[in-house]
Amino acid sequence: MCGVFGVWAPAEDVAKLTYFGLYALQHRGQESAGIAVSDGHRIVVHKEMGLVAQVFDEPALTALRGHIAVGHCRYSTTGASVWANAQPTFRSTPDASLALGHNGNLINTRELADLLEAQPGVAGVPATSDTDVLTALFVSQLPGVPGGVENTAAAVLPLARGAYSLVFMDEHALYAARDPYGFRPLVLGQLEHGWVVASETAALDIVGASFVREVAPGELICIDEGGVRSRTIVEPRPKGCLFEHVYLARPDTTISGRGVHATRVEVGRRLAAEHPVAADLVIPVPESGTPAAIGFAEASGIPFGQGLVKNSYVGRTFIQPSQTIRQRGIKLKLNPLRDAIAGRRIVVVDDSIVRGNTQRALVAMLREAGATQVHVRVASPPVISPCFFGIDFASRDELIAGHLTPDEICASIGADSLGYVSLDGLIEATTLSADRLCRGCFDGQYPVPVADRDRGKYVLEVSTQP
Ligand code: SF4
Repeated sequence: MCGVFGVWAPAEDVAKLTYFGLYALQHRGQESAGIAVSDGHRIVVHKEMGLVAQVFDEPALTALRGHIAVGHCRYSTTGASVWANAQPTFRSTPDASLALGHNGNLINTRELADLLEAQPGVAGVPATSDTDVLTALFVSQLPGVPGGVENTAAAVLPLARGAYSLVFMDEHALYAARDPYGFRPLVLGQLEHGWVVASETAALDIVGASFVREVAPGELICIDEGGVRSRTIVEPRPKGCLFEHVYLARPDTTISGRGVHATRVEVGRRLAAEHPVAADLVIPVPESGTPAAIGFAEASGIPFGQGLVKNSYVGRTFIQPSQTIRQRGIKLKLNPLRDAIAGRRIVVVDDSIVRGNTQRALVAMLREAGATQVHVRVASPPVISPCFFGIDFASRDELIAGHLTPDEICASIGADSLGYVSLDGLIEATTLSADRLCRGCFDGQYPVPVADRDRGKYVLEVSTQP
């Protein structure tokens, strides 16, 4: 997962708007950040490893002058976590340049790389990730397609399979495109004098843009002084990611007309009905477990309270790229409120269990703080399969529910009881139609078949030097 943001707005400081947009999307990717800006004549890109606030300061933003910008904050799913893979990617020909930000994961990168290698004059694959392969292929086609970037996008993007919510630009226009399944979110917003495209509606709120609509699955949008043009480039087959509703998206974001917070509270209510328990206190694993804990408390009649303090300056645990960092992250992240916990039967509500490391440490932590019982309730079904569309669940072997039953997981994490919300319960809580959702990580049924050769990460040798 990653965050993407784009803006077309003469008379606005587009670099600063993009900075604030990326700030609002920081939860979607914390490894690197970048902004590309065009003044109508040339594109300038600034990108670096680190959080948005670490990558940009006032002088860096001031140097990015223009009226079109695209921004990206990255969490790697394909390609290593190195500077060379930071986005926006940038490629140019004598006639045109392209800067591109991608949220998602392509599942035919090798096939696209083969197409790229077959281009006259291309020796080897001069690219390091699925996004870079796509950008290089795109730019290689630019000279041959009348109509520039817009028509090239319409010709090249249908070749890509998998998940892509894209923002991209040449010197003259801003573009946005979404794969035909709409795995990852992408929305269009309007400023007083301009347009914004962002991964989530929360980013529109932060820059003062009003929500216009979602970019439709299979749609290509072009924004320039002529306004917004739209065309369908691939036949839509909507299958939005169910996990966005559970964990990925901000609670103050709206997906398909439904507030994410409201969905998560409803999941908590259903969890209480499906897995009742006698207890004294319901506590969330902050922050993403909070809405479901509120719903659980409301439906069960058990008081809601805070029992864990989160250090907000530590990133999400499973978003970090190495196991060593993940394990250290768990201990850095949460501390119990002993007065609230001691002598009580605790229900602790979490958004999901991926590897089980967090929950094992959490249960031990609550017992050490004096809990007499610890009941774990999970606001998503067991994650049994990897995701190939932009979430780094890694391999099935690393997923605790990929090889253990819920009872075995309960024993493994040391809880007194464990209950997951059912898949039907979760889907009903979103109020969306089941056939418009991808739920591959929960039931192993992927909307797009994934070939064996595309199941690994696409990583080429890259220089780690900026
Ligand atoms: S497999 Fe899971 S995480 Fe991946 S897109 Fe589908 S629902 Fe989302």
